[in-house]
This record gives sequence, C-alpha cells and structure tokens, in this order.
Amino acid sequence: VIEITKLNKWFGPFHVLKDVSLTVRDREIYVVCGPSGSGKSTLIRCINQLEHHQEGDIVVDGVEVEKKGKNQALIRRNIGMVFQSFNLFPHLTVLENCTLTPTLGLQTPRKEAEETAMRHLERVGIADQARKYPLQLSGGQQQRVAIARSLCTKPKIMLFDEPTSALDPEMIKEVLDVMVELAEDGMTMICVTHEMGFARQVADKVVFMDGGEIVESDTPEAFFANPRYDRTQAFLSHIL
Ligand code: ATP
Ligand code: MG
Repeated sequence: VIEITKLNKWFGPFHVLKDVSLTVRDREIYVVCGPSGSGKSTLIRCINQLEHHQEGDIVVDGVEVEKKGKNQALIRRNIGMVFQSFNLFPHLTVLENCTLTPTLGLQTPRKEAEETAMRHLERVGIADQARKYPLQLSGGQQQRVAIARSLCTKPKIMLFDEPTSALDPEMIKEVLDVMVELAEDGMTMICVTHEMGFARQVADKVVFMDGGEIVESDTPEAFFANPRYDRTQAFLSHIL
C-alpha cells in the first residue's frame, strides 16, 4: 500500500533523503530506526505531505503523493499519524478530541462519531477518561488518546514517530501494548522507534537509516542476529 521509489529531498542545500526506496504491503509492520538526524521523521512526514519531496515517487494506496502537496486531503484520508508530543487539543475533552475530525471533516453525525470514539477509547483502555481534558491525564494516557483519535478517522495506514520517547518508562509499555494490539489486528504501520523489543515482537521488517539513506532493511531475526553493516552494529551496540 506504500510504494516509495528513489525518494530524494533537500532542505535548502542539505540533502536529507538520498534515494530512499521502500515498499510496505497491506498489513505489514515496518520499524524504522537510526541515529538522530538520519532523516527518519522527514521520511514519514513526506508520506502524508507534512513535508514535500523534490525527486522520486511515493504512492499511497494507489494514489501518487504530489510533490507540491496538492492532493493532501486525499492522501491523509487513509493515513493516521501519531507524534512524539501527543498534539491533542488542550481545550477539548478526550471525547471531543476524538470526534472533531469525524464530525467536521468527514461529516459523520455526532452520535455515530461519539459511539465510534468510545469504542476506540475502550480499545486503548481509556474510555473512563472520556470527559476529562488532556492535561488531566498522564503522558501514557494522552498518547493512547492520540492513537484512538487517529483510529476514529478509519485510517488504512498508521505512521508513528517516536510515540514513546517523551514518556516515562512506566508508561512506555502501556502505549506499546496498544501498538502491538493494533499490529496484531492487521493495521499497516510504519513506526519510527528505538523500542527494539517492539520490533522483535511485531515487525515484518526493521529499517536502519543513517545519513539520509536506508542502510539496511531486514527481518528482525536477521537484523538483530547479524547486522550486515558496521554502522548498524555500532548503532545497535549503542541502544541495546
Ligand atoms: P531524530 O532521531 O532526532 O528525531 P530524525 O532521524 O527524525 O532525527 P529528521 O528530523 O528527519 O531526523 O531530520 C533530518 C535532518 O534534517 C536533520 O539534520 C535536521 O536538522 C534536518 N531538518 C529537519 N527538518 C528540517 C527543516 N524543516 N529545515 C531544515 N532542516 C531540517
Ligand atoms: Mg525524528
């Protein structure tokens, strides 16, 4: 469902993505890791046009992601994204955060949107907090709300950009558990994360980026047992 071919992107003179190619099929889970500044966020932001690329092709669910970003609405309809900082609206309740896009953007009747939202909030284990405001919740709870909010727009693909790296250790697991469940339910996912336990558990492929390039892409078994490149080995010895 995601086909990236020879993607190149520059920020001014800085070549941030170099000939990146990646194919993610329906229901596959990709984990992307690599050092800070290697281009991981930029790569997934190009997929839903939060950034624009200059060369190469990105096709999402049969639709070409236009370089000038003109078909944003169409592309984003199928994609949910969860960020490191939860990006919830602080002045709206948990439930309102979840029903905002469905009611305003997708014209879903309020009652139906609320039922869907409650179902997803239940799924992430947080239905009892629906009437609270985001800042009344813990970081782990807020991130689970952010995931539920994304699911309310019925995405075919979920993109995660370091969803647990702003969380205290005891809250990381509750978010990863939700992500594992999503993966097991058959969601197609690209996850930028350094949680290698998660990668081992659910990833079909682990991708290692360095300096704007995909250096290595392999099954988790092969990736951890026997990384082919020095740069991957050095990185793994650093984070494991
Ligand atoms: P991290 O692990 O720290 O999140 P990353 O792999 O996600 O890193 P990116 O955020 O994709 O890295 O950034 C890649 C490079 O592009 C970095 O050197 C960064 O400084 C640069 N960069 C990112 N966004 C911009 C921008 N809007 N303008 C100019 N340079 C940028
Ligand atoms: Mg990043």
